[in-house]
Order: sequence, then C-alpha cells, then structure tokens
Amino acid sequence: MSDVEYLKSQLTAHPDFPKKGIVFLDIFPILRNPLAFETLITHFLHHIASHTIAAAPNKKIDVVVGLDARGFLLGPIIALRLGAAFVPVRKQGKLPGACVSASYEKEYGTDSFEMQADAIQPGQTVIVIDDLIATGGSAKAAGELIAKQGGKTLEYLFIIELMFLKGGAKLDAPVYSIVQSD
Ligand code: 5GP
Repeated sequence: MSDVEYLKSQLTAHPDFPKKGIVFLDIFPILRNPLAFETLITHFLHHIASHTIAAAPNKKIDVVVGLDARGFLLGPIIALRLGAAFVPVRKQGKLPGACVSASYEKEYGTDSFEMQADAIQPGQTVIVIDDLIATGGSAKAAGELIAKQGGKTLEYLFIIELMFLKGGAKLDAPVYSIVQSD
C-alpha cells in the first residue's frame, strides 16, 4: 500500500457533523497512530524538500504558518524539522500585542483571523498548513496576513482537499494536498 493509500485508510467520515448534511472528515485517527502520524509528517517533509524548497527563491523555508486549530498540531513539527519559525494564525482576540487582521466568509457572516504584527519579516518565504481546505476562505485570509507583512507565500499544504469547492482557486500560491476528496 502506498503512503497516500495508508493515510487515506486512517481517515474517518462523520455524516451530519457538526450539523445535518455535512460529512466531516476526521484526521485525529492519524494522530492516534504513531506510524500513521510519522508517515504523514515524512510525506509532507519529502514533498517540501523535493518540490517547495527546490523551487524557493532562497532555497529554504523561513516560516511555517499554522491555522487555528488543527494547523497547530502539524505546523510546529514541520517547522522544527525544517529549522524554520512557527507562526500561528488565530481567531480574533486570542493573540497578545499588536496584530494584523483579515476577515473571511463563513457560512453565516464573517469571521476574522489575526497574526502578531512582528511575526514575519519582509521577504521571508512562508508555507501555510492546515488539516483540510474546503472553500479556501480561511487559507485566503492567512495569505492576506502574510502579504500584509511582506512575506512571500510559496505553498498551501493540507492533508485533505475538498475538490468540488475549488478553494485553491482563491489562493495566491499553489495548493498541495495528500488526499483529494469529492
Ligand atoms: P474553509 O475556510 O476552507 O472553508 O474551511 C477550512 C477550515 O474548516 C479548516 O480550518 C478545517 O479545519 C475546517 N473544516 C471544514 N470542514 C472540515 C472537515 O470535514 N474536516 C476537518 N477535519 N476540518 C474541516
């Protein structure tokens, strides 16, 4: 079995969660299984080394940005292995000090994401990571926060991409996803 098939086999689908009509894909079974979790991190690192860094202008990644909340479980591990900084993007009101903010569309109304204002230096190369891309609204807001600070987003990485929502089309850099779901 390939590592992608193995990781896919670990995901579980939960119909009608968090509400009727939504099929929620759960990544936590991967984190409960050390072999699967190691396979996941190694898969991301192999892709980043062979594609993302190879194409990067400075041949390195300076910053890994993780999205609230499951991006916080993946981003720091990848940042440590790359020797990069980890920077969280959080829902409004959670981060201390001066912050930059960007709003994004939710199903009902809008929400705001924030990043600490000194987190990224102009010209730094950045990758963004989260567990899943649906509409792409939250990843787009993260990209805006990075651009506001003069960072250069090289790629957006996800375990799962919901292809039918075409979220990647909203973003200012390519998407890499391990599992594509219809
Ligand atoms: P978007 O902003 O792309 O519409 O939504 C993506 C965000 O919603 C991500 O932060 C992701 O964690 C969460 N999300 C939406 N649907 C799912 C799902 O089915 N499974 C998981 N694990 N996260 C989801």
